[in-house]
This record gives sequence, C-alpha cells and structure tokens, in this order.
Amino acid sequence: MVGGALRAGVDEIALTEHAHNFVQCRDIYPSDNDWVHGRDREGRRSWDLDAYLRLVEAARAEGIRVKVALEWDYCPGYEAQLERWVRAYPWDLVLGGVHWLRGRNGGWWGFDIPEQREDWEHRPVDEVYAEYFRLLAEAASTGLFDVLAHPDVVKVFGHRPRRDPQEWYEQAAEAMARAGVCAEVNTAGWRKPAGELYPGQRFLEVLHRRGVPIVISSDAHWAEHVGFRFADAEQAAWAAGYRTRCVFEGRRRTEVPLPPPL
Ligand SMILES: [Zn+2]
Repeated sequence: MVGGALRAGVDEIALTEHAHNFVQCRDIYPSDNDWVHGRDREGRRSWDLDAYLRLVEAARAEGIRVKVALEWDYCPGYEAQLERWVRAYPWDLVLGGVHWLRGRNGGWWGFDIPEQREDWEHRPVDEVYAEYFRLLAEAASTGLFDVLAHPDVVKVFGHRPRRDPQEWYEQAAEAMARAGVCAEVNTAGWRKPAGELYPGQRFLEVLHRRGVPIVISSDAHWAEHVGFRFADAEQAAWAAGYRTRCVFEGRRRTEVPLPPPL
C-alpha cells in the first residue's frame, strides 16, 4: 500500500482494514451474523490487532505518513463493545460503516457482499434504501465515529430506488452535521457496478449545504488502487461547494485546502 501510494504521488495514507478480519473485534457483531462468525470456523482471516499496529509501525518507516484506523461496522446494540476497542488502541480516526441489514429469514444481510447479492431480488429496493439510510443516521448519532464510510454504498450493485432519495439524504446529512461526523468521499464506487462516486453528486451537495466535512479516500483493497481517481473526486467535491477536505491524527481533525479544478 505504501508502494502504491508512492507510485500514485499520494503523500499520506490511512490503513482502514475491516474490523471483521480481527479476532478481537468479533464481539461487535451479533452472534447470529453467520458470515462474520463463520470466518472463525473456516480458518479464514483471523488477524490480530497488535500485529496490525506493528505492521503500521513498519510501514511508517517507509517514508510516507501512515495513519492507522479500522473500518468498523455499525451494528445497533453493540455500541459498548465497539467503544471498548475504539478506546483500547491509539487510532488516528474511527471510520464507521453500515454494511448489515436484518436478514429476511433471521440473521443478517451484507447487502454489498457479492456472494449475498442474490438477496436483492427478494427485497423492495425502496425498503432497503430506507433501512440503510435510517441506520446511517443512527450510526452518526452514536457519536462513536469520526468519519462515515461510503455514505451511499447501498447503490453498490446499481439498484436504484423508485422514491426520490432527497429526504434520505437530508436526514442522514442532518444527523452527521449534528454529530460532527465527516463524510467519506470514496472513489471505489467508480470501480463498482454503481459506476458513481460515493456519495453521488446530489448527496454530496446536501452534505455540503448541511455543513458536513469530507475526507477523500480510494478504499483501496489493492496497492494499485491507492489514490484511484483522486483528482476526479476533488473536482466533484469542489463542484458540490467544498473548498477543504480533512485529515486526521490521534482523532484530531485538520482541514486541508482542495486544489481548484484545472
Ligand atoms: Zn465498507
């Protein structure tokens, strides 16, 4: 990732590995989340948080600023467990995301997970959107998170609501503004079937009007994606009215000017 950043001309990265990959963090998930807890049984990723922190230390020796974070899932009712892990380590920022909705037949549905994509066929898209945005606003209101990840990732596979989404955008943005949470402007949406920045332009404009600050991220899962289409993301943010983006250190937020469009 550091190599990818150096090649892309990015001078600072934040590592935000998914919390579900760490053995310590499994207790932030309901016990009936089979996808997360099944990872224990199948000998899949069971990483150790302390090893992760050591890895970040090593990365910091490579010549660019490396911030450390995790991408935490917001699971209602598990705030106390999450808070414990948030307090236990020296995170630069706390990134929260909504990825789990109640399953149709119990359990939990990871609506953005390719292997659970089929479930979209059995659900009214408007209901999925309504539930997603309700949880996003709720996640902001917990006050646990500094940044909310990919704020309209519910569109990942290209499902579009029939209803006008404006009211969902307004509610989420209002909750984020009230809680002082940043929105992540995330270029991964351009690599997904949605084919759009997260958040889309209209939502980004609402976030700006409501006074929600932003960070810019590539959500890179591979080194070659570090810094993916950052110039386009900066232009989209500028067009929505933003003149700054934020960076974090030790959970303190600093604003950095956005470059004017070329
Ligand atoms: Zn995510």
